[in-house]
Amino acid sequence: MPIQNIFKTKDLLDVFDLSPSGITELIELANNFSVQNRQSEKKIYNHCGKTVVNFFMESSTRTRTSFEIAAKRLGMDVVNIPVAQSSVSKGETMLDTAATLDAMLIDALVIRCTEEALPSTIAGNMKAHVISAGAGISFHPTQALLDAMTIFQRKGTLSGLKVAICGDVARSRVARSNIRLLQKFGTDISIVAPDYFISQDYYEEIGVKIYNDLKEGIREADVIITLRVQNERTLIRSDKADAFDFGQKLNSYVLEYRLNHENIKAAKEDVIVLHPGPVNRDVEISSSLIDDEKYSMILKQVENGVAMRMAVLHALLGMEN
Ligand code: ASP
Repeated sequence: MPIQNIFKTKDLLDVFDLSPSGITELIELANNFSVQNRQSEKKIYNHCGKTVVNFFMESSTRTRTSFEIAAKRLGMDVVNIPVAQSSVSKGETMLDTAATLDAMLIDALVIRCTEEALPSTIAGNMKAHVISAGAGISFHPTQALLDAMTIFQRKGTLSGLKVAICGDVARSRVARSNIRLLQKFGTDISIVAPDYFISQDYYEEIGVKIYNDLKEGIREADVIITLRVQNERTLIRSDKADAFDFGQKLNSYVLEYRLNHENIKAAKEDVIVLHPGPVNRDVEISSSLIDDEKYSMILKQVENGVAMRMAVLHALLGMEN
């Protein structure tokens, strides 16, 4: 597929807009970039002169750095705008900020924010490409793409697999984005969590099985995606998760749901474990499992994140060529 056809619009706001063949093409492109990334000369200069602006309104280590490294490896210039020092903190609207950046003729805006509709509102009012780097509890397209790439590398397919997503799904844009992507490939998806971490949309989601019991939910799984308990995020859609008091329930959550070398035996022998990071060590997953390369894909995901973001930038910014 020519890269010009991967995206239907100039922006990447959600995986929903991508076709299975577009996703497969992005994985192939990213695999090629990951080979290049392992060379001592990592730069490819085919996007020289393009400008990418990173605007992160929520904390981030890996996604922000990953987008910056990805753009620089493609020869682009990158500008990071610290929100606290931007005019948004003086009361400027995001639309005025977007118009200002457009007037500087930037090529892409990478945005992370709490407000779910903001990236698409900006995209509709901006000439530059807009890429969501995480919006609210629903959208994190590049995380889902890099997770798919990681699963594909180890399992050779996305179809016919059993994937269990475990933990704080109620507040997780990673879970929602992964489900939307994997459902395009007919993956068998289970959710494993206590009731206070499951919100109504999962009950309504077609084809997603829900388990309260960890071992039952991960039984015969090929892939387990564990999630961070996101205590900084209050939930909009479920009062059950809002009621979660970390201090009070932590012990029972850890006892019943922490993934470790013992309970993982319920899954397939060659199961792989993903986690989007940052990890709460010994809360959702045991420290020894995080560091066990037989299972843990966590650092592979980080490595793949750079290659996948290179693929996304290359395909989106290459649309005009
Ligand atoms: N880094 C991921 C996100 O931004 C997951 C997390 O923060 O737990 O959604």
